[in-house]
Amino acid sequence: MPAQPVNRDRLLRRLTELAQIGRSESGGVTRPGFSLADLEARRYVVREAENSGLPTAVDAAGNLWLGPRPHPGTTTLVLGSHLDTVVDAGPLDGVYGVVSALEAVENLTSLNLAHPVAAVAFANEEGALHPQPFWGSLATSGQLSTPAAATTAYDGTLLRDALTRAGGNLDVIDQARLDPHQLLAYLELHVEQGPVLERECIPIGIVDAIVGRVQLEVELMGAAAHAGTTPMPGRSDALAAAAEIVLAVEDLPAADWCQVATVGRLEAAPNSPNTIAGLVRLTVDVRDADEARLHQAAGEAVRRIESIAQRRTVKASCTRAASSKPVLTDPALRRSIAAAAARRAVPTLTLTSGAGHDAQMMAAITPAAMIFVPSVGGVSHVPHEDTSPDDLVLGAQMLQDAALALTSHPGSLA
Ligand SMILES: [Zn+2]
Repeated sequence: MPAQPVNRDRLLRRLTELAQIGRSESGGVTRPGFSLADLEARRYVVREAENSGLPTAVDAAGNLWLGPRPHPGTTTLVLGSHLDTVVDAGPLDGVYGVVSALEAVENLTSLNLAHPVAAVAFANEEGALHPQPFWGSLATSGQLSTPAAATTAYDGTLLRDALTRAGGNLDVIDQARLDPHQLLAYLELHVEQGPVLERECIPIGIVDAIVGRVQLEVELMGAAAHAGTTPMPGRSDALAAAAEIVLAVEDLPAADWCQVATVGRLEAAPNSPNTIAGLVRLTVDVRDADEARLHQAAGEAVRRIESIAQRRTVKASCTRAASSKPVLTDPALRRSIAAAAARRAVPTLTLTSGAGHDAQMMAAITPAAMIFVPSVGGVSHVPHEDTSPDDLVLGAQMLQDAALALTSHPGSLA
């Protein structure tokens, strides 16, 4: 019996209806992980799955499972993404991957497959309210650190209480951990959130790597002084040093140190029009798909900051605030996505993800890969985030085709 194709109307209806949940006045979607809007979106997806006769379950970390869950004696292909959003988000980031995963499970479950197919909505991927991003996928991959579990949200809610409301249980969080022996692979469909596919007029992207990131917090100590009476020679102007540092960081990719580098936040004190700035705090965000290059680039950023500070008689201190490892996707999975596209004569492009995704965490315990569809204007995390309906349906079909090919025969990933 052949698989039903992706149901276009059902897929697009669900995306439209989910975009109404957590809708703000600006037209954006605000649905932080474990917020009331997030819980409503989860109930919506559960209803849709149950109407299709699928079982649903919530694990200890609050991840929502649609269809069969991985269990002993089988190796399950897991398809997923997240339902939570940042503040004032668009309608597609994360949600699209969950709705498409559900669609694939609905269309494939009745077939006699060698491997089960499961869909999962990982909890709190964005960390917009409860500050641990990738919460759910970190828990399933056994990478959640204990202090992260004891956090309080920006609104003062305890994670423990929020998790209980969502059907999870912090006391037995380890139960959310998946046994790698029960997994075949993990596939995630996502909007690109960048401009490459649209620019190249290619409807399907196959992700070869997800970049790693190092974030530095930099403090520059100069000497605050009167802007009128202090002669130019001998000043220790922390803001002028910061200006030079912003450009030196921006130059790192041009000098081939890394893929992208950004100073995204800068605070000057006293931040007064007639005072030389005595103190500046800024952040440096450096990303690359190669771990060695990433750390060399972070080292070069620190060298440049120290040399500028020294020349300008400003004291600099740099601390590493956060880092994540780059992840290469699985070559066999990439080949099966490419083959699925070739069977329908769909052109594909291989590209690197500049944003982090749940797939990055899942890659620690199982072969993982990602499919991208074009983002109109290359934008995401804004209300006008968009992808054409045809591209959305095609992407979901590619996910389903690849899932079917991977689960039809035992040993498909050998
Ligand atoms: Zn996302």
